[in-house]
Amino acid sequence: MSSKIKIVRHLKDLRKAVGSWRTAGERVALVPTMGALHDGHLALVGVARKKAGRTVVSIFVNPTQFAPTEDLSRYPRDEAGDLTKLQAAGADLVWSPTAEEMYPEGFSTRIVPGSAAEDLEGEFRPHHFGGVATVCCKLFSQVTPDVAVFGEKDYQQLCVVRQMVRDLNLPLTIAALPTQRAKDGLALSSRNAYLTPDERSIAPALHRALLGIADVAKTGGPVNRAIETANHDLLAAGFARIDYIEIRDAETLEPYEPRSGREGRVLAAVWLGRTRLIDNVGVGS
Ligand code: AMP
Repeated sequence: MSSKIKIVRHLKDLRKAVGSWRTAGERVALVPTMGALHDGHLALVGVARKKAGRTVVSIFVNPTQFAPTEDLSRYPRDEAGDLTKLQAAGADLVWSPTAEEMYPEGFSTRIVPGSAAEDLEGEFRPHHFGGVATVCCKLFSQVTPDVAVFGEKDYQQLCVVRQMVRDLNLPLTIAALPTQRAKDGLALSSRNAYLTPDERSIAPALHRALLGIADVAKTGGPVNRAIETANHDLLAAGFARIDYIEIRDAETLEPYEPRSGREGRVLAAVWLGRTRLIDNVGVGS
Protein backbone atom coordinates (compact mmCIF):
# COMPACT_ATOMS: atom_id res chain seq x y z
CA MET A 1 0.00 0.00 0.00
CA SER A 2 1.52 3.39 -0.96
CA SER A 3 1.65 6.06 1.76
CA LYS A 4 -0.99 8.80 1.72
CA ILE A 5 -0.29 11.66 -0.69
CA LYS A 6 0.96 14.80 1.00
CA ILE A 7 -0.75 18.17 0.41
CA VAL A 8 1.30 21.25 1.17
CA ARG A 9 0.00 24.85 1.26
CA HIS A 10 2.99 26.81 2.59
CA LEU A 11 6.28 27.41 0.83
CA LYS A 12 8.40 26.49 3.86
CA ASP A 13 6.80 23.01 3.97
CA LEU A 14 7.32 22.56 0.24
CA ARG A 15 10.99 23.51 0.54
CA LYS A 16 11.42 21.05 3.41
CA ALA A 17 9.89 18.13 1.48
CA VAL A 18 11.78 18.84 -1.76
CA GLY A 19 14.98 19.50 0.23
CA SER A 20 14.84 16.06 1.84
CA TRP A 21 14.47 14.42 -1.58
CA ARG A 22 17.38 16.42 -2.94
CA THR A 23 19.54 15.39 0.02
CA ALA A 24 18.70 11.78 -0.86
CA GLY A 25 19.88 12.46 -4.44
CA GLU A 26 16.43 12.14 -6.02
CA ARG A 27 15.27 13.89 -9.19
CA VAL A 28 12.08 15.93 -9.00
CA ALA A 29 9.40 16.44 -11.66
CA LEU A 30 6.63 19.06 -11.59
CA VAL A 31 3.21 18.87 -13.24
CA PRO A 32 1.55 22.32 -13.06
CA THR A 33 -2.29 22.21 -13.10
CA MET A 34 -5.35 24.20 -12.14
CA GLY A 35 -7.07 21.12 -10.66
CA ALA A 36 -10.42 19.54 -11.69
CA LEU A 37 -8.17 16.76 -12.87
CA HIS A 38 -8.99 14.41 -15.73
CA ASP A 39 -7.15 11.59 -17.48
CA GLY A 40 -5.08 14.09 -19.50
CA HIS A 41 -3.58 15.49 -16.29
CA LEU A 42 -3.02 11.97 -14.94
CA ALA A 43 -1.16 11.03 -18.13
CA LEU A 44 1.18 13.97 -17.41
CA VAL A 45 1.81 12.45 -13.97
CA GLY A 46 2.68 9.17 -15.73
CA VAL A 47 5.30 10.97 -17.85
CA ALA A 48 6.65 12.80 -14.78
CA ARG A 49 7.10 9.53 -12.89
CA LYS A 50 9.16 8.10 -15.75
CA LYS A 51 11.42 11.17 -15.72
CA ALA A 52 12.06 11.54 -11.99
CA GLY A 53 11.89 9.61 -8.73
CA ARG A 54 9.59 12.22 -7.16
CA THR A 55 6.57 13.93 -8.69
CA VAL A 56 5.04 17.17 -7.44
CA VAL A 57 1.66 18.22 -8.86
CA SER A 58 0.73 21.84 -8.32
CA ILE A 59 -2.95 22.77 -8.11
CA PHE A 60 -3.47 26.49 -8.32
CA VAL A 61 -6.25 28.32 -10.14
CA ASN A 62 -4.09 31.28 -11.06
CA PRO A 63 -6.12 34.51 -10.89
CA THR A 64 -3.58 36.54 -12.88
CA GLN A 65 -4.14 34.55 -16.07
CA PHE A 66 -7.89 35.28 -16.13
CA ALA A 67 -9.34 38.60 -17.33
CA PRO A 68 -12.11 40.09 -15.14
CA THR A 69 -14.68 38.97 -17.75
CA GLU A 70 -13.46 35.35 -17.79
CA ASP A 71 -14.49 32.22 -15.87
CA LEU A 72 -12.25 32.41 -12.74
CA SER A 73 -15.12 32.29 -10.24
CA ARG A 74 -16.92 29.41 -11.98
CA TYR A 75 -13.76 27.46 -12.87
CA PRO A 76 -14.43 23.85 -11.66
CA ARG A 77 -12.80 22.88 -8.36
CA ASP A 78 -12.71 19.41 -6.74
CA GLU A 79 -9.79 19.13 -4.33
CA ALA A 80 -10.93 15.89 -2.65
CA GLY A 81 -11.47 14.17 -6.00
CA ASP A 82 -8.12 15.48 -7.27
CA LEU A 83 -6.25 14.07 -4.26
CA THR A 84 -7.80 10.61 -4.70
CA LYS A 85 -6.83 10.58 -8.40
CA LEU A 86 -3.29 11.79 -7.73
CA GLN A 87 -2.79 9.23 -4.97
CA ALA A 88 -3.86 6.45 -7.38
CA ALA A 89 -1.62 7.89 -10.13
CA GLY A 90 1.41 7.71 -7.83
CA ALA A 91 2.22 11.41 -7.36
CA ASP A 92 4.24 12.16 -4.22
CA LEU A 93 3.14 15.64 -3.23
CA VAL A 94 0.48 18.21 -4.08
CA TRP A 95 1.55 21.86 -3.94
CA SER A 96 -1.65 23.83 -3.45
CA PRO A 97 -0.81 27.34 -2.24
CA THR A 98 -3.48 29.89 -1.41
CA ALA A 99 -3.67 33.00 -3.61
CA GLU A 100 -2.21 34.97 -0.64
CA GLU A 101 0.75 32.59 -0.41
CA MET A 102 1.41 32.93 -4.15
CA TYR A 103 0.76 36.68 -4.39
CA PRO A 104 1.34 38.21 -0.96
CA GLU A 105 0.53 41.82 -0.20
CA GLY A 106 2.86 44.04 -2.23
CA PHE A 107 3.54 41.49 -4.99
CA SER A 108 4.38 43.47 -8.13
CA THR A 109 6.99 41.73 -10.31
CA ARG A 110 5.85 40.15 -13.57
CA ILE A 111 7.31 38.19 -16.45
CA VAL A 112 6.72 39.69 -19.90
CA PRO A 113 6.43 36.67 -22.20
CA GLY A 114 8.23 36.59 -25.54
CA SER A 115 7.23 36.48 -29.20
CA ALA A 116 5.41 33.12 -28.86
CA ALA A 117 2.74 34.91 -26.79
CA GLU A 118 2.06 37.70 -29.27
CA ASP A 119 -1.04 36.60 -31.15
CA LEU A 120 -3.54 33.67 -31.39
CA GLU A 121 -4.50 33.35 -27.68
CA GLY A 122 -2.46 36.50 -27.03
CA GLU A 123 -4.78 38.51 -29.27
CA PHE A 124 -8.00 37.29 -27.67
CA ARG A 125 -6.69 37.03 -24.08
CA PRO A 126 -4.11 39.85 -23.92
CA HIS A 127 -3.14 39.35 -20.25
CA HIS A 128 -3.27 35.57 -20.24
CA PHE A 129 0.30 34.58 -21.04
CA GLY A 130 1.79 37.23 -18.74
CA GLY A 131 -0.08 35.53 -15.90
CA VAL A 132 0.88 32.06 -17.11
CA ALA A 133 4.58 32.92 -17.51
CA THR A 134 4.72 34.63 -14.12
CA VAL A 135 3.05 31.78 -12.25
CA CYS A 136 5.14 29.13 -14.06
CA CYS A 137 8.32 31.04 -13.24
CA LYS A 138 7.23 31.17 -9.59
CA LEU A 139 6.28 27.48 -9.54
CA PHE A 140 9.67 26.58 -11.03
CA SER A 141 11.53 28.57 -8.39
CA GLN A 142 9.32 27.24 -5.59
CA VAL A 143 9.50 23.55 -6.52
CA THR A 144 12.96 23.64 -8.21
CA PRO A 145 12.11 20.69 -10.48
CA ASP A 146 14.60 19.00 -12.83
CA VAL A 147 11.78 18.66 -15.34
CA ALA A 148 8.29 20.12 -15.72
CA VAL A 149 5.68 18.31 -17.81
CA PHE A 150 3.13 20.17 -19.94
CA GLY A 151 0.39 19.03 -22.35
CA GLU A 152 0.27 19.86 -26.05
CA LYS A 153 -3.43 20.60 -25.46
CA ASP A 154 -2.34 24.14 -24.57
CA TYR A 155 0.15 24.27 -27.41
CA GLN A 156 0.88 28.00 -27.41
CA GLN A 157 1.35 27.89 -23.62
CA LEU A 158 3.94 25.14 -24.12
CA CYS A 159 5.77 27.34 -26.67
CA VAL A 160 5.65 30.37 -24.34
CA VAL A 161 7.00 28.36 -21.38
CA ARG A 162 9.76 26.78 -23.49
CA GLN A 163 10.77 30.21 -24.77
CA MET A 164 10.87 31.63 -21.23
CA VAL A 165 12.97 28.72 -19.93
CA ARG A 166 15.40 29.12 -22.83
CA ASP A 167 15.59 32.92 -22.68
CA LEU A 168 16.01 33.12 -18.90
CA ASN A 169 18.30 30.06 -18.64
CA LEU A 170 15.97 28.51 -16.07
CA PRO A 171 17.62 25.32 -14.77
CA LEU A 172 15.02 22.73 -15.80
CA THR A 173 13.87 20.91 -18.90
CA ILE A 174 10.34 21.01 -20.30
CA ALA A 175 8.72 17.76 -21.41
CA ALA A 176 5.53 17.60 -23.48
CA LEU A 177 2.75 15.04 -23.83
CA PRO A 178 0.40 14.78 -26.85
CA THR A 179 -3.20 15.80 -26.23
CA GLN A 180 -5.26 13.08 -24.57
CA ARG A 181 -8.70 12.73 -26.13
CA ALA A 182 -12.08 11.12 -25.54
CA LYS A 183 -12.91 8.25 -27.92
CA ASP A 184 -14.81 10.64 -30.19
CA GLY A 185 -11.76 12.92 -30.51
CA LEU A 186 -12.72 15.75 -28.13
CA ALA A 187 -9.63 16.91 -26.25
CA LEU A 188 -10.03 16.23 -22.52
CA SER A 189 -10.40 19.53 -20.66
CA SER A 190 -11.65 20.66 -17.26
CA ARG A 191 -13.84 23.15 -19.14
CA ASN A 192 -15.72 20.32 -20.92
CA ALA A 193 -17.72 20.12 -17.66
CA TYR A 194 -19.45 23.36 -18.77
CA LEU A 195 -20.89 21.74 -21.93
CA THR A 196 -24.57 20.78 -22.08
CA PRO A 197 -25.30 17.27 -23.47
CA ASP A 198 -26.18 18.84 -26.84
CA GLU A 199 -22.98 20.87 -26.93
CA ARG A 200 -20.95 17.82 -25.89
CA SER A 201 -22.31 15.90 -28.90
CA ILE A 202 -21.33 18.75 -31.27
CA ALA A 203 -17.88 19.37 -29.74
CA PRO A 204 -15.88 16.55 -31.50
CA ALA A 205 -16.46 18.33 -34.84
CA LEU A 206 -13.66 20.70 -33.81
CA HIS A 207 -11.00 17.97 -33.81
CA ARG A 208 -12.33 16.56 -37.10
CA ALA A 209 -12.14 20.01 -38.69
CA LEU A 210 -8.54 20.50 -37.56
CA LEU A 211 -7.54 17.06 -38.87
CA GLY A 212 -9.14 17.97 -42.21
CA ILE A 213 -6.99 21.12 -42.47
CA ALA A 214 -3.85 19.19 -41.43
CA ASP A 215 -4.54 16.62 -44.18
CA VAL A 216 -4.80 19.32 -46.83
CA ALA A 217 -1.59 20.94 -45.56
CA LYS A 218 0.25 17.60 -45.56
CA THR A 219 -0.50 17.04 -49.22
CA GLY A 220 0.40 20.63 -50.20
CA GLY A 221 -3.24 21.52 -50.95
CA PRO A 222 -5.02 24.90 -50.60
CA VAL A 223 -4.82 25.45 -46.82
CA ASN A 224 -6.63 28.81 -46.75
CA ARG A 225 -9.60 27.30 -48.53
CA ALA A 226 -9.57 24.35 -46.07
CA ILE A 227 -9.62 26.82 -43.16
CA GLU A 228 -12.56 28.70 -44.71
CA THR A 229 -14.44 25.43 -45.11
CA ALA A 230 -13.72 24.49 -41.49
CA ASN A 231 -15.02 27.88 -40.27
CA HIS A 232 -18.18 27.41 -42.30
CA ASP A 233 -18.72 23.78 -41.23
CA LEU A 234 -18.22 24.52 -37.52
CA LEU A 235 -20.70 27.41 -37.53
CA ALA A 236 -23.17 25.19 -39.43
CA ALA A 237 -22.66 22.42 -36.83
CA GLY A 238 -23.76 24.76 -34.02
CA PHE A 239 -20.58 26.45 -32.78
CA ALA A 240 -21.41 30.01 -31.72
CA ARG A 241 -18.26 31.84 -32.77
CA ILE A 242 -14.74 31.23 -33.99
CA ASP A 243 -11.93 33.28 -32.45
CA TYR A 244 -9.33 31.82 -34.79
CA ILE A 245 -8.36 28.78 -36.82
CA GLU A 246 -4.81 29.13 -38.08
CA ILE A 247 -1.85 27.14 -39.29
CA ARG A 248 1.54 28.15 -37.91
CA ASP A 249 5.14 26.98 -37.70
CA ALA A 250 5.07 24.34 -34.96
CA GLU A 251 8.16 25.66 -33.18
CA THR A 252 8.08 29.45 -33.58
CA LEU A 253 4.32 29.94 -34.18
CA GLU A 254 5.32 32.27 -37.04
CA PRO A 255 3.35 32.01 -40.31
CA TYR A 256 3.56 28.52 -41.83
CA GLU A 257 5.71 28.10 -44.93
CA PRO A 258 4.39 24.99 -46.70
CA ARG A 259 7.57 24.38 -48.69
CA SER A 260 10.02 25.06 -45.84
CA GLY A 261 10.17 21.41 -44.76
CA ARG A 262 9.37 22.58 -41.22
CA GLU A 263 6.55 21.17 -39.14
CA GLY A 264 3.24 22.98 -38.99
CA ARG A 265 0.55 23.16 -36.33
CA VAL A 266 -3.15 23.89 -36.80
CA LEU A 267 -4.49 25.81 -33.79
CA ALA A 268 -8.02 26.92 -32.98
CA ALA A 269 -10.18 28.60 -30.36
CA VAL A 270 -13.94 28.38 -30.80
CA TRP A 271 -17.04 29.06 -28.73
CA LEU A 272 -19.70 26.45 -28.12
CA GLY A 273 -22.50 28.20 -26.26
CA ARG A 274 -20.77 30.00 -23.36
CA THR A 275 -17.75 27.68 -23.41
CA ARG A 276 -14.51 28.51 -25.17
CA LEU A 277 -12.70 25.42 -26.46
CA ILE A 278 -9.11 25.34 -27.72
CA ASP A 279 -7.47 22.52 -29.65
CA ASN A 280 -4.61 21.89 -32.06
CA VAL A 281 -3.14 19.16 -34.24
CA GLY A 282 0.22 18.63 -35.89
CA VAL A 283 1.13 18.71 -39.58
CA GLY A 284 4.16 16.51 -40.31
CA SER A 285 7.03 18.04 -42.27
P1 AMP B 1 -4.87 23.00 -16.77
O1 AMP B 1 -5.23 22.33 -15.49
O2 AMP B 1 -5.98 23.02 -17.76
O3 AMP B 1 -4.19 24.32 -16.58
O4 AMP B 1 -3.78 22.08 -17.46
C1 AMP B 1 -2.63 21.65 -16.77
C2 AMP B 1 -1.73 20.91 -17.72
O5 AMP B 1 -2.45 19.79 -18.24
C3 AMP B 1 -1.29 21.74 -18.94
O6 AMP B 1 0.06 21.42 -19.25
C4 AMP B 1 -2.23 21.26 -20.00
O7 AMP B 1 -1.71 21.40 -21.32
C5 AMP B 1 -2.35 19.79 -19.64
N1 AMP B 1 -3.56 19.20 -20.22
C6 AMP B 1 -4.83 19.61 -20.09
N2 AMP B 1 -5.66 18.84 -20.83
C7 AMP B 1 -4.86 17.94 -21.45
C8 AMP B 1 -5.12 16.88 -22.39
N3 AMP B 1 -6.33 16.61 -22.83
N4 AMP B 1 -4.06 16.15 -22.83
C9 AMP B 1 -2.79 16.44 -22.40
N5 AMP B 1 -2.50 17.41 -21.53
C10 AMP B 1 -3.51 18.16 -21.07
